[in-house]
Amino acid sequence: MKRRNFIQKAGLSAASLAATPLLANDRVEKKSQKTFSTKNIPIVICTWNCPNATAKAWEVLEADGLALDAVEQGVMMEESDIKNQSVGKGGRPDREGNVTLDACIMDHTGNAGSVVYLQNIEHPVSVARKVMEDTPHVILAGKGAEQFAYEKGFKKVDLLTEKSKNEWIEWKKESKYKPIINIENHDTIGMLAIDKQGRISGACTTSGMAYKMAGRVGDSPIIGSGLFIDDEVGGATATGMGELVLKTVGSFLIVELMRQGYSPQEACEEAIRRIVAKNTNYKDFQIGYLAINKAGEVGCYCLHQGFSYSKYTKEGQVEIKSDSYLNS
Ligand code: ASP
Repeated sequence: MKRRNFIQKAGLSAASLAATPLLANDRVEKKSQKTFSTKNIPIVICTWNCPNATAKAWEVLEADGLALDAVEQGVMMEESDIKNQSVGKGGRPDREGNVTLDACIMDHTGNAGSVVYLQNIEHPVSVARKVMEDTPHVILAGKGAEQFAYEKGFKKVDLLTEKSKNEWIEWKKESKYKPIINIENHDTIGMLAIDKQGRISGACTTSGMAYKMAGRVGDSPIIGSGLFIDDEVGGATATGMGELVLKTVGSFLIVELMRQGYSPQEACEEAIRRIVAKNTNYKDFQIGYLAINKAGEVGCYCLHQGFSYSKYTKEGQVEIKSDSYLNS
């Protein structure tokens, strides 16, 4: 159908079409004038119990730093921690024995950068930030992302530790792919922070599901799934079985629900209910959501028991257990 016919059929005049963007802008302007209580900020929250990561981010926030720097430096702590076998160096490999990393970062202006299937680089979150700041793109993948990292001065690092290698060799004896519900209370790190100026940013980083198929990419580096930030509203991040989060665009859903008036807690619960409604096998997997609105109110919800998050504010550091959809 020609565009002119379509406009006539839809009963829209050229004038009313021209008016639409003006109305939208008007709405955005009104929202951006909205003021938020500052009593809860600055604040940083992070999936799982990762006190070193939130403490590092808090250092940045307390010194009046940018939320973006806080989340990058915060999650870098976990990327370097070889005891965390779900993130960065020391991460569990795919079924071929390669550690492949996914990460993304998003700032208060709506800018975003991401790397997927990145090998041999300890800090995928920092490469994601370079993608955001130094390229016209949002996502770089695989060899291209690795090449880009070297061009930006990142060093080649062997990410496979003896421990992860030995466990993988053991796994290969049976080669049964069975994602474990809560791996040692350590998993993908999704971090959200609001700085003293009220700017919100987030980062998400992971080595993905252990023994995944070569080439598999989960939700964590996908803007809208593993992470989403909108400075007018708040932010959300996810951990757990990425395929279920991807199919429901979980983090974007939570932020949009908060825009419509849901509290962060209500929005996380609704996003979990959406997964339950769309997946008959939902009991086989864990998903955890964490969200914050611009007033610094936090929500957290998961499918199975066992998920928690770390929070650092003026009152100090705490680990908070999440409520769950299932009582097991
Ligand atoms: N969300 C990650 C992924 O699917 C893994 C996890 O959080 O356990 O790659």
